[in-house]
Amino acid sequence: MPSLRFEAVLLRSVDYGESDRIVHLLTSDAGRLTAIAKSARRSCRRFPGTLDVFNHLAIDGRARPRASMAFLERARLIHPFLGLRTDPARYALASFLTEMLDRLSPEGIVGPEAERIFEFAIESLRLLENVRPTPSLRLLLELRGLDALGLRPEFGRCVRCGRVAADEISDDHRVHFHVADGGIVCTACGLRLDGLIPIEIGTLRSLDAGLESSADRLDRIVLGTRMLAQAARVVFRFQRFHVGVELRSERFLDEMLPVLGSDSPSTTAPTAPTT
Ligand SMILES: [Zn+2]
Repeated sequence: MPSLRFEAVLLRSVDYGESDRIVHLLTSDAGRLTAIAKSARRSCRRFPGTLDVFNHLAIDGRARPRASMAFLERARLIHPFLGLRTDPARYALASFLTEMLDRLSPEGIVGPEAERIFEFAIESLRLLENVRPTPSLRLLLELRGLDALGLRPEFGRCVRCGRVAADEISDDHRVHFHVADGGIVCTACGLRLDGLIPIEIGTLRSLDAGLESSADRLDRIVLGTRMLAQAARVVFRFQRFHVGVELRSERFLDEMLPVLGSDSPSTTAPTAPTT
């Protein structure tokens, strides 16, 4: 059976039978991997306190031909991200991001695609361990997660005709975002579309900066109340459109780290204040 030797982040862990555990891993080289750790709850030698969520691990396993689940044989702890477990807002945001990765990361991918998602996971958990999250950071990390998963919204040009968004600015400095199209649409292309979300060009630039920034400087991008409300409508609805359901950790995150003035993905958008 082919051996598997990766770094991994533990996304989810479920007890199985008498002493086994099923783990969902995000690996450095193969995307998401589901594996069964036989006798995990008894073996301190093969799994010395390692199979907890968020843990950064070095794993040894074996793929099983024609089986959806691999065998996890050994896991060594590289970093436990303990700082995420002692603060509710950090824990809630880390839980939300790992759940999003668990749901949307493909299995069996290789190369840059796998590396990009894994790098996002490690960078975000590291940042959250060092920095207390704010509503701005929540939105930007969620957006970067979607980007890492190959779901990057288009903020620069009309997704239908390619016209530059900055040329479309109306008197109130707004353009429109269309969730199903995954980006900005110009006035002409938006005429027959429903559900357009107005968003100021300054907000788009902040979101773009959040996508382009290095992860360790992300907390320096702070959106004001009005921009935050606009950005939340776009990011939350875009996320919900692609995830399809409300993530289990989303309500807990809304309690621990509410985004002021934003609507939840399941409710109707209020009009953003115009100062
Ligand atoms: Zn257009």
